[in-house]
Amino acid sequence: MHKSFPFSFSNVALIGFVAILALLPILPTPEFWITLANYIGLYAIVALGLVLLTGVGGLTSFGQAAFVGLGAYSTAYLSTQFGLSPWLGLLAGLCVTTLAALAIGAITMRLSGHYLPLGTIAWALSLYFLFGNLEFLGKYDGLNGIPALNLFGIDLDNGRKMFYLIWAILLVALIGLQNLLNSRSGRAIRALNGGAVMAEAMGVNTTWIKVLIFVLAALLASVSGWLYAHLQRSVSPTPFGLNAGIEYLFMAVVGGAGYVWGAILGSALLTLLKDQLQSLLPKLLGANGNFETIVFGILMLLLLQRARDGLWPYLRRWMPGKPTALAPQTAAALPVRAKHADADVVLEIEKARKEFGGLVAVNDMSFSVKAGEIVGLIGPNGAGKSTMFNLVTGVLPLTSGSIKFRAQSELQRISGLPSRQIVARGIARTFQHVRLMSSMTVLENVAIGAHLRNHRNDVIGIARSLLRLNRGEEQTLLFEAKKQLERVGLGHLLYEEAGSLALGQQRILEIARALCCDPTLLLLDEPAAGLRYQEKLALADLLRKLKAEGMSILLVEHDMDFVMNLTDHLVVMEFGSKIAQGLPAEIQQDPAVLEAYLGGIDE
Ligand code: ADP
Ligand code: MG
Repeated sequence: MHKSFPFSFSNVALIGFVAILALLPILPTPEFWITLANYIGLYAIVALGLVLLTGVGGLTSFGQAAFVGLGAYSTAYLSTQFGLSPWLGLLAGLCVTTLAALAIGAITMRLSGHYLPLGTIAWALSLYFLFGNLEFLGKYDGLNGIPALNLFGIDLDNGRKMFYLIWAILLVALIGLQNLLNSRSGRAIRALNGGAVMAEAMGVNTTWIKVLIFVLAALLASVSGWLYAHLQRSVSPTPFGLNAGIEYLFMAVVGGAGYVWGAILGSALLTLLKDQLQSLLPKLLGANGNFETIVFGILMLLLLQRARDGLWPYLRRWMPGKPTALAPQTAAALPVRAKHADADVVLEIEKARKEFGGLVAVNDMSFSVKAGEIVGLIGPNGAGKSTMFNLVTGVLPLTSGSIKFRAQSELQRISGLPSRQIVARGIARTFQHVRLMSSMTVLENVAIGAHLRNHRNDVIGIARSLLRLNRGEEQTLLFEAKKQLERVGLGHLLYEEAGSLALGQQRILEIARALCCDPTLLLLDEPAAGLRYQEKLALADLLRKLKAEGMSILLVEHDMDFVMNLTDHLVVMEFGSKIAQGLPAEIQQDPAVLEAYLGGIDE
């Protein structure tokens, strides 16, 4: 059974928060406060998109205000020029925004580093000038006379009535986003920031996921624009310019861009502060002007120095967090790939070559791995073993040569494929320098390995997670992750933060994650490094058990005893080339190998 905490404090806090919100317009709250609360809600909807895109996904955007504009102008134009219902305006706005975000996202999401924020500034400016220069959108004067929304026969023609709609949409979006982040798609999204190579190696199409969260963030902005247009009843380009885009980003960062509640906190703080400063500063300074912007700039600098994660983490300390994903006691098993018949060649490497500039890291290497075999790839540091792994798994492209893998019945070329398609064929790996998401739990990290094990369509996956229709799938994935963790002996650490584990345990975690991929060939890069003696014995036992089940294993390892007792076959590399190959006993006597190891850099 799935453990749940229906009355955890955070839910009580949520109910209290909703109750206060519900009472606000009924009580004799001054009109002015209602207006402020409405704007806080509108801004928070946009900031929520930035939590997803920037805080979680690590993609900085200065251009969200332009999407607010798309939503606002779509409904403004259709309702004022054609008398169409605002609800059709919403639909049109969402369609226009989806198309625009897909097009812009497909181009900009490929940019990395500072090119991405620059790219967002470029399209923010373009859209702003588009709004201001199109005749049919009223140029810089904009459009007036936008009708009020009508919901179930009630005209939402004042701030008090709009309040409920704005905040209801905000809360629904917030809960949907929370659902999304705690799902298969959400784990892939959370891995974008710093874990893209690992995520691709587990089968995640990171470029596509980036585009999808970009579209989702844009849709939230667009909905906010739609609400804005019907609250304000007029639109003009100014609120959708680059300044507004920067302010939205400020809100997300101040509140805490990594947390959904940070969006509300940030927009509330900045809206209230701006309002206070706007009346206070001109009086203090005896002159008119947008002085609050200067204060904001200084506060921002302080914040980046003192509290990069924003202010929400400080508030959250008083609220025990909701438990994250919990593994069920039992769940339906996932389908398992058939293993290959013994003695079939599963991996065939022919003259694989990798050059880094002038350095030949892998020099025309050829060898093969047969089904049900444990092959050791050994050699001194810098020999090219990890590079060989990166070539097999598509993390690096080959300079020349070819690599073939038996996915079903025949050997097929896999060199040239991206790593997510290679893992989909049944090759899973661990990394010499562990690649895991240190703030995610051990269980969640391992569940990333099962990314391709059930529903594979990312759009449908995200939609189902938002609506929480993914409970069954989640249970099977988390159950599989738990099963593999128990198998490798980490069953007692499911809910620990992965970053808090000892390095040796983190390597074992990576093996569990690789097993979650349901591989027929397992590539392990120095799995025993950092393990204690007993742990090494347990690991050797596990690998023998996997072999007995028909798994093929290619292993890089420095510990000679470990390799000699475990492997069927050894390939020895030095300076990128194969210097020997054979049974462990033969290799131990091989003069070239002894020379390489005794004369080696650090062996
Ligand atoms: P091993 O795993 O056998 O210790 P590696 O495959 O990590 O060796 O490295 C082989 C050689 O290739 C080393 O000289 C290393 O510095 C170089 N190398 C590895 N990766 C890169 C890279 N991405 N760019 C440039 N040189 C690299
Ligand atoms: Mg290495």
